[in-house]
Amino acid sequence: MNKNNFDILQLGHPHLRRTSTAISDLSSAYFQSFIDSLLQFVIDKGGMGIAAAQVDVAQRVFIMCSRPNSRYPDAPEMAPTIVINPEIMWASEEKKKDWEGCLSLPGIRGLVPRHHTIKVKYLSRTGAAIEAEYTSFIARIFQHELDHLNGIVFLDRVESTDEIMMEQEWQKRFAKA
Ligand code: ZN
Repeated sequence: MNKNNFDILQLGHPHLRRTSTAISDLSSAYFQSFIDSLLQFVIDKGGMGIAAAQVDVAQRVFIMCSRPNSRYPDAPEMAPTIVINPEIMWASEEKKKDWEGCLSLPGIRGLVPRHHTIKVKYLSRTGAAIEAEYTSFIARIFQHELDHLNGIVFLDRVESTDEIMMEQEWQKRFAKA
């Protein structure tokens, strides 16, 4: 697993639909070096996040690394966050729709309803128990990546095919100059 380039599973690959298993041995050099590689990879790709499942590693870990770029100009800046064995403890009834994309579904955007605020717990890469509250875009990333650990992709949550758009068309209509 210690490589800096991964193949991202594309929609249609059955492994994208697997349920990932909880991680018990965080301290192994193997796992820690996988995290380093995945972190570098998602930064290089300009992704807002990535789940291990997307690179065919069916373990419950994902990375959130929101930062503004041309594909997500309104993304808030956050330090890359490694999320292991995540759980949503509470979610607001209020849901909001916003556009999502995914490295496993390149070229497609969908309008996806997500809980606006969530309270979560997970482990850091050193095994520290973290509790956090996320809202809006970061809450959206968390829910999107957690879905990957359960074999769900954002298209599953789009309510109407009218709310699917090709990336190129989205850029024309919504991207800021
Ligand atoms: Zn995704």
